[in-house]
Amino acid sequence: MIHKHKLRTENRGIGMTSQGTRDRLVQRLRDDGIKDERVLKAITQLPRHEFVDEALSSRAYENTALPIGQSQTISQPWIVARMTEALLDGGTPEKVLEVGTGSGYQAAILARLVPSVFTVERIDELLKLARRRFHSMRLNNIYVRYADGHLGWPSQAPFDGIMVTAAAQLVPEELLAQLGIGGLLVIPIESNGQQRLIAVRRTGEGFEESDLGAVVFVPMLSGLA
Ligand code: SAH
Repeated sequence: MIHKHKLRTENRGIGMTSQGTRDRLVQRLRDDGIKDERVLKAITQLPRHEFVDEALSSRAYENTALPIGQSQTISQPWIVARMTEALLDGGTPEKVLEVGTGSGYQAAILARLVPSVFTVERIDELLKLARRRFHSMRLNNIYVRYADGHLGWPSQAPFDGIMVTAAAQLVPEELLAQLGIGGLLVIPIESNGQQRLIAVRRTGEGFEESDLGAVVFVPMLSGLA
């Protein structure tokens, strides 16, 4: 059986979703400081246009966030690259949790780089679409859950890495608790109207925090939609 995404991704060379267009995006990310070649390769290979509405296909390889419905956005490619690079931190975490599945693009990038990806989303409609994409792209190492991500995924903990793709006011305690020793949490935190990307490493003694710079995310909300 030939899948639609296959037909579209094999149409190389011309057009706004071609390999050349994708390669230009990756060059731009490299110029803007992304260093992990594994991350850049995953971005080259994964068809981002399959994660947005067909009407937005022609803009899928611009370095910009795009609407995905329900007032949510697929993150800007540079941010996806930066957060992924930060989470990998030169190694390969075995088991990763993402909070905020959205379109599924970030989870799909992670799925090409780590053995298993668990992803949680509070908007059912978005989760259904993402699940369909994972299935058609045969990304069989992604596990999805319809839940409030503040709670993480307790039965699957501990995680080697946790990535939150919506801005929180505080680092959720539950997520820290689900981090294994040596594990890393990457999360945008909003304070005084400004968002910073924060990395928290769990050590044998406690938690070490570092600031990875200014970012812009949709807010992390509570409860199910
Ligand atoms: N990673 C996504 C980015 C989506 S935008 C992508 O690659 O497309 C952020 C997402 O976080 C939205 O889909 C939003 O519904 C979700 N979100 C916000 N608060 C959440 C929560 N408490 N639990 C789970 N998902 C949440």
